[in-house]
Amino acid sequence: MSLDERVAELSALLNRIEVQFAPALLMTSFGAEDMVLIDAIARGRLGIDIATLDTGRLPEQTHDLWRTVESTYARKVLSFHPQAEALGQYIRTNGANAFYDSVAQRMQCCGIRKVEPLGRALKGRAAWITGMRREQAASRAYILLEESDAEHGLVKFNPLADWSTDEVWQYLNQYEVPHNRLHDLGYPSIGCAPCTRAIQAGEDPRAGRWWWEQAGAKECGLHIREIPVAVTA
Ligand code: SF4
Repeated sequence: MSLDERVAELSALLNRIEVQFAPALLMTSFGAEDMVLIDAIARGRLGIDIATLDTGRLPEQTHDLWRTVESTYARKVLSFHPQAEALGQYIRTNGANAFYDSVAQRMQCCGIRKVEPLGRALKGRAAWITGMRREQAASRAYILLEESDAEHGLVKFNPLADWSTDEVWQYLNQYEVPHNRLHDLGYPSIGCAPCTRAIQAGEDPRAGRWWWEQAGAKECGLHIREIPVAVTA
């Protein structure tokens, strides 16, 4: 499939989401895939909101791109933050970097900084959109374009599910879309600063996430709960 065909397909899907699933929300971490979606939504002047989880540990490069997105597209990115009480309690009890100590501590941190705020972000929405792709990780190999998200009680769209890495970058280059400078430093996946590193040639794209943990499902709890029921393939 050519890039033009990919873009036409993406545009048609986003238009359908806008019409049939209002209010819909794109959740972004400002990675390459999310930039394709932000650009396509802005280019189509679609009434789909854009939001991010400001965990408090995002890298400086991500904050820079956040500002660039708002100025380039003249759109406000909604931000959702951890609840101060829960975060303060976690840090007082465990320490600010306790996520290095155990998977349980890491999941707790992700729960406070990401999962709970995501639940608030999705309240009242009919659908949410992610930039996940099947190629990114074994844990994402079976994601669908459109899924039933029973956890949040809405529909989840992964419009780039079957895009390749090359196609993502072809789009960014062709449409001169800004990208996160961390990608130029060897980060295929963008996350919190202390939990994300660059990868070496040949490593799995998710190898730079929580690299001190055993290889496996490198997810933070945002994307592992959906019921894999296909609405469409
Ligand atoms: S990625 Fe790291 S810092 Fe960010 S919420 Fe998860 S454990 Fe905490």
